[in-house]
Amino acid sequence: MSLIVQKFGGSSVRDAQRIRNVAGIIAETYLEGNDVLVVLSAQGDTTDDLIAKAEEINSHPSKREMDMLLSTGEQISVALCAMALESMGLPCVSLTAWQVGIQTTAVHGDARIKRIDSERVQAELDQHRIVLITGFQGMDRAGDVTTLGRGGSDTSAVALAAAFRAKLCQIYTDVDGVYTADPRIVPNARHLDEITYDEMLELASQGAGVLHNRSVELAKKFRVDLEVLSSLERKPGTKVKEVTKVEKTTIAGVAKDTSIARIALIGLRHNPGVAFQVFDLLSKHNINVDLILQSIGREDSKDISFTVHEKDLEDARAILTENQEVLCFDHIEVDGNIGKVSIVGAGLMTNCGMAARMFEALYEAGINIQMINTSEIRVSVLLDEGDVDRAVRAIHAKFFDEI
Ligand code: ASP
Ligand code: MG
Repeated sequence: MSLIVQKFGGSSVRDAQRIRNVAGIIAETYLEGNDVLVVLSAQGDTTDDLIAKAEEINSHPSKREMDMLLSTGEQISVALCAMALESMGLPCVSLTAWQVGIQTTAVHGDARIKRIDSERVQAELDQHRIVLITGFQGMDRAGDVTTLGRGGSDTSAVALAAAFRAKLCQIYTDVDGVYTADPRIVPNARHLDEITYDEMLELASQGAGVLHNRSVELAKKFRVDLEVLSSLERKPGTKVKEVTKVEKTTIAGVAKDTSIARIALIGLRHNPGVAFQVFDLLSKHNINVDLILQSIGREDSKDISFTVHEKDLEDARAILTENQEVLCFDHIEVDGNIGKVSIVGAGLMTNCGMAARMFEALYEAGINIQMINTSEIRVSVLLDEGDVDRAVRAIHAKFFDEI
């Protein structure tokens, strides 16, 4: 028998009707003769609502207690979905991540999965039960509940698919797959039938909301066959895999991210070791840095600007300011009103004209670029936040509407 992992996002389990719909999809897969492992997110906006509840009580709750709170959303989903399957007469069991033994690091709110115990789940599968597992969470060595970061249920699903060698990991959501841009911004964005792990990883990391980026990293590492599809419409989704058949003459997509902020350290010493000190300090505080730009050194000073997630802005500013004397900079500037737009495509590796086309689109739209950053298969630009949607449309049109 082959094992299929099916993950359903918050909108797919929003209410009783949607849960019955999801139970129908699970039942169909099970009755076709597969073993089924189901991973669920919290219903609808539950996680946001829980965060709001916490804020009413304490504006700076500890991360441990936050995890304790947020992990409850998924528990509701798995229990309700199991009840729906029971009412259809199907054998099933719901389990929390700690009942399963999903062991993670101890970084509350951003934990990484280290190991998954197989005993309990395997015993249930051996009994031919459908196993429903809470996504987005695990437990650390001390036995405390951890969460994997917003959107982390995708990562739970892929990790389980890898651990139990599933034939396929299906990520069900409310859209029918991955598009060349967000269809809410670009109405004629195209559906992608397939995309490579690398392209998907770049798109996910650059703000395309479809998949949690660590889930794609894991899928690539363990060669998990992934499919993103809609729980509301029965049609083919997007397959994420190592190589695709698509000709690489254009890009896979345009992504945007407006949840970033820029920090500039002005007047750093122009000495070896300065960048190391700055970024080592931030990394020790678990603050991820994205685009980095160092100015050409003046006589004895230089500037370094970089972007962080906006949720980390205040922490980063505080840590840097506390260390102003050690780091020896003149002053710090921050800007929360910025956004990033990226193009991603395996073809960028061999086709150097593509970056120029992107810049041309921005020039024609009269949009000013503040910073540029590239990887093998991606080009990102930093812009004023107010220009971001227009930039996405202009770039998408340049690549997909012009011949
Ligand atoms: N419920 C969590 C969130 O909203 C995890 C997830 O849905 O993947 O971020
Ligand atoms: Mg999600």
